[in-house]
Amino acid sequence: MPYHRPSRTRRIAKWAGLVACAVIVASWYVSTRWMIAYADESTALGGGIDRHALLFCHGLFTGLDGWHVESAHGRRDMFLLPWAGSDGSAQGLIIPLWMLFVGSAGGTAWLWWRDRRPPPGDCQACGYDLTGNTSGVCPECGEAT
Ligand SMILES: [Zn+2]
Repeated sequence: MPYHRPSRTRRIAKWAGLVACAVIVASWYVSTRWMIAYADESTALGGGIDRHALLFCHGLFTGLDGWHVESAHGRRDMFLLPWAGSDGSAQGLIIPLWMLFVGSAGGTAWLWWRDRRPPPGDCQACGYDLTGNTSGVCPECGEAT
């Protein structure tokens, strides 16, 4: 497989992926202890973390405006669920944090794996196997070894 130096964008994406994973793990931990949500009274839109999940909703936090923190003690886990209140007044989406973690960890691991350096003994420019090479020049790409 040819090796290319990672672009600046890809380097940023790799580190952003790691940060995202760390943020998700931290949110997961926090959500086992507290529900943290933000609600906007004028639009009735809200969102936050609660019981191992990320949630977005419309009309759930009626009468609440701004940040809202509540103990998560005794609450049950939430599952992936687009939901709507029986009268249609409240609706939202619940996304378990483990799903977000699997998604970002998988993507991040793939980015890091793809940019791994060729092992010593392979051409550092193109990844060609230089075992037994005595010329000091990669026959594949012409790079000095
Ligand atoms: Zn080469």
